[in-house]
Amino acid sequence: MALVPFEIVREPAAMRARAEDLRRDGRRLAVVPTMGALHDGHLSLLRAARARADVVILTIFVNPTQFGPSEDLSRYPRDEAGDLAAARGCGLDLAFCPEAEDMYPPGSQTFVEVRALSQPMCGEKRPGHFTGVATVVSKLFHLTRPHVAFFGQKDFQQLRVLQTMARERFPRVTVVGCPIVREPDGLAMSSRNAYLTSDEHDDALALSRGLRAAQELWQNGERDPERLRGEVREVVASVPRVTLEYVSAADPLTLVELGAPAQRAVVSLAARVGKARLIDNVLLGMDVKDLS
Ligand code: AMP
Repeated sequence: MALVPFEIVREPAAMRARAEDLRRDGRRLAVVPTMGALHDGHLSLLRAARARADVVILTIFVNPTQFGPSEDLSRYPRDEAGDLAAARGCGLDLAFCPEAEDMYPPGSQTFVEVRALSQPMCGEKRPGHFTGVATVVSKLFHLTRPHVAFFGQKDFQQLRVLQTMARERFPRVTVVGCPIVREPDGLAMSSRNAYLTSDEHDDALALSRGLRAAQELWQNGERDPERLRGEVREVVASVPRVTLEYVSAADPLTLVELGAPAQRAVVSLAARVGKARLIDNVLLGMDVKDLS
């Protein structure tokens, strides 16, 4: 039985007021920020939130400041009604679905930058992306006043950026990382998989195959980061229609590329398949739930 009746809030000021009321009533609040087009990966975050809070808040906002000028902002998939139905099936209490003009009033100039963690990997190809992410999540934390927030390991660099921002700016918000949910064939679930034709979907399986091969090397005792990167590159290169953007084997806390064998690593990649830019990763020698 839900503690509060389901509601949709669109105005930032109304969201903040509602969150304050719920806190005053002693409720423990969880937030799950998303850009909508929900799939089972998002729903796993909602279920994790449901298990750890009295009130589960889903935010749906396609955040313009995290898209570059030539990226897919205008064609990003949107289905608010479908998203709300799926999320309510996971025990959602409140959906916050603001408009861009309300989140970024004209002339907005204040942004949140998490410096070193935003630079490597996806940061090199998407300048400003993580500043857009940190800025919007900072706004969402101010408006939803969560005790706990849930993000996926799928976007590993984003998770580390936000855990760092939370530690420095929102020390009372616990940021929980949740494991990657995959299709039965291994492809990491993503709203952008909707851009793939069925042939491209098959091609994209090279990404998870490459990461699995690196994981198997690790399980067999390989610790040389260049061998791990090389294994991923080799598997992905066997599918010519997949264009690798980068393969990284980095320290999971700092995201600094490993130059020597280490006891833990995050092996990540980004690649273009058809119209989609896809990312995936595997964490070696540690579990995402141990990161904070
Ligand atoms: P997005 O809507 O793509 O911004 O994602 C919203 C949240 O869902 C982020 O914390 C993502 O890391 C998370 N997420 C996306 N895909 C997956 C997945 N396959 N498994 C787990 N979490 C995911």
